[in-house]
Amino acid sequence: MATIFTKIANGEIPSYKCAENEEFYAFLDINPLVKGHTLCIPRREVDYIFDMEDDEIARFQVFAKKVALAIKSAFPCVKVGEAVLGLEVPHAHIHLIPMQSEKDMLFSNPKQKFPADEMQAAADAIFAEFQKL
Ligand code: AMP
Repeated sequence: MATIFTKIANGEIPSYKCAENEEFYAFLDINPLVKGHTLCIPRREVDYIFDMEDDEIARFQVFAKKVALAIKSAFPCVKVGEAVLGLEVPHAHIHLIPMQSEKDMLFSNPKQKFPADEMQAAADAIFAEFQKL
């Protein structure tokens, strides 16, 4: 059975799309730590990121780098932090989080909820910056 993230990448479940190419897809985390918190996934189903082949994980990281650059342009921040947990969803994903301080990377922090129009605007801003790269 397809994972929830495969269904998102295929458009069967809605998401706030931030970037995509043939191999990878990026969308806003629905329960963000901060505004602009984005997830990058491979379209190919693989649970554990470190089971990916060297070439694939290298391309995945280059995609995440471009998304991070787009996030940094859309959301002024000190740096974009990257994290991999994968404890909840069994489909490899990279968290990208615009940081003002290291506290923004604490996954034990309460998750935030933003109205749909603000989520859409955030995704559109990242998408627009990604297209410029
Ligand atoms: P983890 O697997 O521990 O890295 O956590 C999975 C992340 O996916 C969490 O931050 C969730 O908020 C996020 N998430 C789960 N379902 C969705 C969804 N349908 N759309 C966007 N983000 C999601």
